[in-house]
Amino acid sequence: MVKVNENFAKLPASYLFVEIDNRVKAFQKAHPEQEVLRLGIGDVTRPLVKPVVDAMKKAADEMGHAETFRGYAPENGYAFLREAIAAHDYKGLGIDADDIFVSDGAKSDTASIGDIFGLDNAVAVCDPVYPVYVDTNVMAGRAGDFVEGKGWSKIVYMPCLEENCFLPSFPEQVPDLIYLCFPNNPSGVSMPKTQLQAWVDYANKNGSIILYDAAYESFIVTPGVPHSIFECEGAENCAIEFRSFSKTAGFTGVRCAFTAVPKKLQVGGVSLNQMWARHQSTKMNGVSYPVQRAAEAVYSDEGQKLIRENIDYYHNNARIILEGLKQAGFTVYGGVDSPYVWMKVPAGMTSWQFFDELLTKCAVVGTPGSGFGIHGEGYFRLTSFNTTENTTKAVQRIIERFQ
Ligand SMILES: *Cc1c(COP(=O)(O)O)cnc(C)c1O
Repeated sequence: MVKVNENFAKLPASYLFVEIDNRVKAFQKAHPEQEVLRLGIGDVTRPLVKPVVDAMKKAADEMGHAETFRGYAPENGYAFLREAIAAHDYKGLGIDADDIFVSDGAKSDTASIGDIFGLDNAVAVCDPVYPVYVDTNVMAGRAGDFVEGKGWSKIVYMPCLEENCFLPSFPEQVPDLIYLCFPNNPSGVSMPKTQLQAWVDYANKNGSIILYDAAYESFIVTPGVPHSIFECEGAENCAIEFRSFSKTAGFTGVRCAFTAVPKKLQVGGVSLNQMWARHQSTKMNGVSYPVQRAAEAVYSDEGQKLIRENIDYYHNNARIILEGLKQAGFTVYGGVDSPYVWMKVPAGMTSWQFFDELLTKCAVVGTPGSGFGIHGEGYFRLTSFNTTENTTKAVQRIIERFQ
């Protein structure tokens, strides 16, 4: 008899964005005249920049001619892209082209990195957290059982609280695998170099591995905030880094990312770089040629200049949200090295009550913090992924209602 993977049955229904959608639809139906403004979007909205589109078109043309046609791409990425990544993103950091693995997304990479680790490893995550790290460990059978109000029995939660600037503290139980994401989704805060170095030292001392999600690296503007964990001394002995073109260059619908696994990184004499190479070559056949050429074009001078303009556009929206919310009397965090603003909901309200308040009184949509973990309760995420016009309008409505 066929048996399914019973771990899936343990997963609570992923209801956050479905529930948001249902409530927005119900509101819209009752108030068809109201223009609903969405500041809950976790997806970029600015179009691809011209050098990227040109490179994709040119590569598509090459694919249509026998002389320049290409079949399967190298599993871990074309040398032209891996070399561009190493030269641009890891210059002077000791990460070479052959430490880099090109893939279709940081979601798939952070989701499947667990495949190369044993099931009895203790996993630590921040709370609140990007749900992928937790859910994929549930699917693999590493998370134990879900306890209402507490979370997964075998997951080590690291509460990220206001008094610690939403940065995690070393947990009581030493974990084997530590997922960190900075600048953070959902809180939008970044981690200063000294703190990240302390995590690297902690991991090296305890023999843990840090799985570092740097998907929002390109939003960093604060001096002294590390763009890569490999800026920290000793990180090549304890860290894997995930990056993506999704938020950096608007590739959410194009799909291209990469993971850096240093050749030095070993567990019990086994090279994680070789294991990940084996994993990827067994489970995927690479990323399409036009997409890799498009990603390469991100690193051209013109590409860099133009993606910077888009990121600045989002930064400006985040600034409008931050300043407007402050003016309305709210306490706000993040939004500087990140497209995300993390606001405290008014005292006595839950995240979902504030969601309803904002929707019904302002016709503005955000994301309840409690959807990202127990310690997200009492907070609310707004994003800068909208037009400046809509962002300004939404913030104006919030000021009028709450000031
Ligand atoms: C958006 C995002 C990613 C990027 O995922 P892709 O699969 O590359 O689009 C990764 N991690 C976090 C935390 C994100 O928010």
